[in-house]
Amino acid sequence: MSQDADCLFCRIAAGQIPADVVRETEHTVAFRDISPQAPTHVLVIPREHHRDVAALAAAAPDTLAVLVREAAAVAAAEGIEAYRLVFNTGEQAGQSVFHVHGHVLGGRAMTWPPG
Ligand code: 5GP
Repeated sequence: MSQDADCLFCRIAAGQIPADVVRETEHTVAFRDISPQAPTHVLVIPREHHRDVAALAAAAPDTLAVLVREAAAVAAAEGIEAYRLVFNTGEQAGQSVFHVHGHVLGGRAMTWPPG
């Protein structure tokens, strides 16, 4: 499995950096964002390193499907019916950690368009 020793989220997935983990599967880890933007703000990541969601979709579409299912499972476990699943892709779109992650945001009303 491809991992990057310098990647923050690879290190969280490996248990080398502590995180508030809410769910784990063979291929994914879900943990609370350190700077929550909603009452529920959980990041869902693959254990394997891919820089963004497009790279993950190209290399491992089954894992992307697991990631989306895990996002739904997180929302259900948090007791939220509606949630926003966000994959910031690229620096200008707000991506700051270049290990693909879905933001599961919920527990409050969301506005559109996003900033
Ligand atoms: P991005 O900006 O790449 O879409 O999202 C990265 C997210 O990772 C941000 O929401 C940020 O708060 C979160 N984050 C950054 N460093 C850490 C960390 O060390 N632990 C946790 N749990 N979240 C982090």
